[in-house]
Order: sequence, then structure tokens, then C-alpha cells
Amino acid sequence: MHYWLNELWRLAYLVICFGILGTLLGYPGWGIALGLGIHLAFTLRHLKRLYRWLEAPVDQRPPDGEGVWGDLFDRLYRYQKGQQQLQNRLRSVLKRVQESAESMSEGVVMLDSRGCLDWWNSAAERLIGLDSRHDRGHHLTNYLRDPAFIRYFRKMDYSEPITIGAPTNEARTLSCQITRFGDDERLLIIRDVTRLQRLEQTRRDFVANVSHELRTPLTVLTGYVETWQDNDGALPASYKRGLSRMQEQTVRMQHLVEDLLTLSRLETSERHHNERSIDMAALCEQIAEDGQELSGGSHEITCRLEETRRLFGDVEELRSALTNLIYNAVRYTPPGCHITLVYRRWDKNGAAVEVIDDGDGISPEHLPRLTERFYRVDKSRSVASGGTGLGLAIVKHVLLRHDARLDIESQPGEGACFRCIFPVTRLETAPA
Ligand code: ADP
Repeated sequence: MHYWLNELWRLAYLVICFGILGTLLGYPGWGIALGLGIHLAFTLRHLKRLYRWLEAPVDQRPPDGEGVWGDLFDRLYRYQKGQQQLQNRLRSVLKRVQESAESMSEGVVMLDSRGCLDWWNSAAERLIGLDSRHDRGHHLTNYLRDPAFIRYFRKMDYSEPITIGAPTNEARTLSCQITRFGDDERLLIIRDVTRLQRLEQTRRDFVANVSHELRTPLTVLTGYVETWQDNDGALPASYKRGLSRMQEQTVRMQHLVEDLLTLSRLETSERHHNERSIDMAALCEQIAEDGQELSGGSHEITCRLEETRRLFGDVEELRSALTNLIYNAVRYTPPGCHITLVYRRWDKNGAAVEVIDDGDGISPEHLPRLTERFYRVDKSRSVASGGTGLGLAIVKHVLLRHDARLDIESQPGEGACFRCIFPVTRLETAPA
């Protein structure tokens, strides 16, 4: 501030001195004008220096200046230096980020707000065939043309990655995950999951083959055991006990094999193959009747239909899922409990089928793991009631194939609610 006051003093001094000189010579007006002119010349000279300096290369020292001008030049110089250091720091951070992205085995692609290619690393060039010389500014879907990927890209819901075939090599499988950042820009991360997929496929084939191979020997064993049981009059009592244990275990193994085969069918068979419009009300009533039959009247089972819309799906798969739920409700609740099957509207015009019981319930720590294969809360109870530990895994798979999900609500001592939630896209007509 004091430089500014000095400058005003300088102006006042010139005007007063030349004003007095002018008055002494009989031309006070000319004297003041001369004082102002000298100050103007001084100002213009410094302006010219400033202008020249701004046009010169960035790191040149500022010109010398007097008073407020010297201070102004110094401040501008310090500001320029600060900006330069900031720029250098940002440049080095950017370089390191690019170098680390370059060293990644995953493809990284930056997209602008329109979905056009902005920057990518060499892994992305290799995985999806980009060319850094020509492709900048082109839309991503010109390179990843798989219809499933285009749907995923447009849907803007990037919570899960999508798996597609590599555009450059059909034998390879890529997992693509998009995240949003900045001003509606997007970052695409591409991983080559071919090896993982092959391992997964080998595992599935192995389980399916073993289950299939076990089927025939098991049928033979069961046949013999049943025949011997039918003619067990001549057998000693200890043999009879052994035979009935054998029969129990062979039946259990048969259920296990059937459930494993069902699971591998769900994992491998094509989706949407057998889909058609299903009368859910009729299906639910039928399932409730099956549950009643299994319980043999020991439970009170009711069916409540609050929704009328038909659902698009595979009836056999849905029947298997809902049967698993109602059988579980019968097997894991004490006699006398109430079980309710509800078909109702849910969440943004979707629909839900709920199987609710007022049995012993399940502790919260088990809930997230219930749909894992062979996960049981109480193994001996599950085995004794003929459970395989695969029922809820089957339910989850069936629902996944119907774009639906399973929600489980339960508290110990307060029963359980297994809710299958279907999106509105699976329902036939809009709600009334
Ligand atoms: P399982 O063949 O053992 O029934 P599931 O996958 O169908 O296998 O179920 C997993 C576990 O979830 C069961 O072992 C049981 O402990 C628990 N469970 C399932 N349904 C209920 C229910 N309605 N009430 C209490 N526990 C249940």
C-alpha cells in the first residue's frame, strides 16, 4: 500500500513543483500540464517495459522499476515463478500416473463426457486393438461392438463389470468395468480373464461330469437296496438296520447329485431359452399345495395373491426355486408354525414372491452366507431333514437368470422371510 501512496506523492510533487514554477513564469496551467506530462511519460515508459517483459520467454528476470512499478514487477515475477513450479509439479505427477498406468497389465482407457477415447495405455491397445495414431476422439463403441457391452455402456449402471469376447481375438475373454469421474468422464478398466474363465469352465465340467457319472451306479445301488428291503424277512435284524441306513444314504446321495446337476445346468445352459409368460398366481398356489403335502398337515400354509401380473421366465426353474423355499420353511420350522406365500407388488413397479414363516429364525451372522454352496446353519438338522446344502444356491442362480434377487430377512425367534424380487422388465403388463 505504501508504494501506491508514494506514487500519489510523486504525482502531487510534480504537479505542485511545476505548478509553482509555472506561476512564477506567469503560466500556472502550463506548469501543471508539464508536471502531469512528465508523470505520464514515466508511467508509459514502465508500461512499455512491462509489455516487453510479458512478451519475453517465461523465465527472464523482470525489468527494473521504480516505486509502485518495481513492486508490481516483483509481484508478477513471484506469481509467475509460483505458477511455473505448480505446473512442473503437476506435469511430473501426470507423467508418473501415465507411467504407472502404462506398466499395468490391465487396459486403462479414459473417455470424455461423450464416451469418446481420450487417453489409453498400451495394454488397452493390445486387448481391444486401439491405435494411438488414429483413434483418439472416436467413440468407444466403435471398438467394443458387442451388443451386451453397448447395452451396459448406455445403461450407465456400472456397479458390476461385464464379461465379453475380445474384439481382436475371439478366443479371449475380457472383463470390462467402467467408473465415472470428473465432469461426467469415464474410466474403463479391461482385464483379460480368459485363464480364469477356462478354470471356471473346467470346474463346472468336472462337477457336472462327476454328478452325471454317479447317477447310474447310484440308481443300481438304490435298486438293489430296495429289492433287499422288500425281501428282508430272511435277514437278521442287524442287516435290516444296515439296509435302512444304506437306503437313507443312497437317497441322500441321489438328492445331492440331482441338485449338483441342476446347479450345473443353471450355470451352463443358455438363458432365455425356455422363457414364456407365467401365471404366477397359479404357480404360487401350486407351490403352497406342494408345501402342504410335504408338511403332512403339521404346518398351516396360506397363499396370498396381491399381484395379478404375469411374469416372463422359465416356469420349471421358478418352480424349482420356490419349491426349495417352501420346503425349507417346512423343514426348518417346528410343527404348528404358519407359513405364508405372498405374490405382491414391490419396488418401482416390480413384483416379489415372499415365503414367510414364524419359526425359530436365523441369526444375522449366517444371513450373508446362506446362499453359498453347502453352507448350513445347523448341519445335523439339515442332513436329518434331507437337505443337501444346495437349495438356496439353486434359488440364487435361478433368480440371477431372471434378473431378480433374493433378500433374506430374519431375526432369531422371529421367523424368516425369503423374498424373490423381480424387476418391472420381467412383468407382462404395466400395473393398473
Ligand atoms: P439345505 O439343503 O441344508 O436346506 P439350503 O441352501 O436350502 O440348504 O439352506 C441353507 C440353510 O439355511 C439351511 O441349512 C438352514 O439352516 C437355513 N434355512 C433355510 N431356510 C430356513 C428357514 N425358513 N428357517 C430357518 N432356517 C432356514
